[in-house]
Amino acid sequence: MSKRDYYEVLGLERTASDEEIRKAYKKAAVRFHPDRNPGDASAEASFKEATEAYGVLSDAGKRQRYDRFGHSGVQASDFDGGNMGDMFSHFQEMFSDLFGGGRSGRRAPARGQDIRVETELSFAEAFTGCKKEVKVRGAAACDTCGGNGAAPGSKPETCRHCGGAGQVSTQRGFIMFSTTCPSCQGQGRVVTEPCKDCSGRGATVKERSVLVTFPAGVDSGVRLRISGQGMPGPNGAPPGDLYVDVGVREDERYERDGADLIVREVIAFSEAALGTKVDIHMPDESVIEVDVPHGTQPGTVLTLRGNGLPRLDRRARGDLHVFVNVRVPKKLSRKAKKLLAELDSEIAAS
Ligand SMILES: [Zn+2]
Ligand SMILES: [Zn+2]
Repeated sequence: MSKRDYYEVLGLERTASDEEIRKAYKKAAVRFHPDRNPGDASAEASFKEATEAYGVLSDAGKRQRYDRFGHSGVQASDFDGGNMGDMFSHFQEMFSDLFGGGRSGRRAPARGQDIRVETELSFAEAFTGCKKEVKVRGAAACDTCGGNGAAPGSKPETCRHCGGAGQVSTQRGFIMFSTTCPSCQGQGRVVTEPCKDCSGRGATVKERSVLVTFPAGVDSGVRLRISGQGMPGPNGAPPGDLYVDVGVREDERYERDGADLIVREVIAFSEAALGTKVDIHMPDESVIEVDVPHGTQPGTVLTLRGNGLPRLDRRARGDLHVFVNVRVPKKLSRKAKKLLAELDSEIAAS
């Protein structure tokens, strides 16, 4: 049988870049992968053909020989033993995203499930950042059976189908596929008398605490990822991640706009006219003295750069905006009225 040109197999120009070769092979392999075309011999043949073409074109030395001498430039020996091992690892690497897992058990998830929890912080905690324990409900080993799922007094037995390996292998072409053993679902052992407390699963739901560091300046809607604090992985696989969704409680003394902090101050109209100093009590209990210049009008915003909330990227802090309002007395004594009228005419004359 005459072999097709490798470039033609992958639908490539002879000048194709390494990346183009990789992409073309990935496309072909996804299309013809035996797992997606069960029992289709022509798909399997196309898959083998594409894999062989990729094996040559992805190797600079082999590609050069192939370009000069054609199929006779790449010997059958290029496809035996060790090279196929390389090919296999290439394959696993390229498709780990599509088929999950590595060499072991494609069906078993590569890691435990992620968990999501919500936590509420006070405005001050968000301002300064804090460490807090969050409660996580998740699977933990069952106390009754010690986690093996077998009723007390009995023991799990080694799975006869896979001999305890948890995996069964099949060869398709020159690629080995391992699949999770259907009898024991990859556990390698079977529970004949299941534990009543966990129905043989070996795990029950328990609550645990995780200490989480909330960065200064964190805001509502921020999601923190704590790696490895999710559900435990099956069969010793790594655990999932914990996602913490942050909510920040409102505080009537403060408003925020991103990293900008907004406070409102009310001063007497004599202070607005003459100028004054006001103390701003910050969420972290520090105090900032702000100069209010004479002649300040109601509604004036005084901005102090860099005195707001820390930005999460730690580049700088936001600004502090002080909204100034002026208190106008509602009740006046006869004397106060007289003095104000005098003051008024004095101001008008000056
Ligand atoms: Zn149990
Ligand atoms: Zn088994």
